[in-house]
Amino acid sequence: MDALDRPHDGGCTCRFVRYRMRTGPLFVHCCHCRWCQRETGASFALNAMIEADRVVLLEGEVDIVVTPSNSGRGQKISRCPRCRIAVWSNYAGAGSG
Ligand SMILES: [Zn+2]
Ligand SMILES: [Zn+2]
Repeated sequence: MDALDRPHDGGCTCRFVRYRMRTGPLFVHCCHCRWCQRETGASFALNAMIEADRVVLLEGEVDIVVTPSNSGRGQKISRCPRCRIAVWSNYAGAGSG
C-alpha cells in the first residue's frame, strides 16, 4: 500500500476538531495567486485537494465561514469554533464535492 493511500488524521490546534482523510489527496501544491494570498494573509496557500466524501469528521464540529473568493460565489471555509483554525474548505464551483 502506497503511503499516500493510507488514512491520514488531522485537526485544529486546540484538538477540539479531529478529522480523517480516508485516502491520500488528489494532489498537493502551493498556490501563489492573489486570491490565495488574500484568503490566507500569507504569500501563498498550501493546498491538498481531495474529494469531499473522503473526509470524515471524527470529533467536534466546525463553523462554516463563507469567505470572498475569486469566483464571486464564496469559498466555504470550515473552522474550529474554539481556536478558529481552518481545517478544510469547499470551493463554490465544486458544490459539496
Ligand atoms: Zn480548535
Ligand atoms: Zn490560488
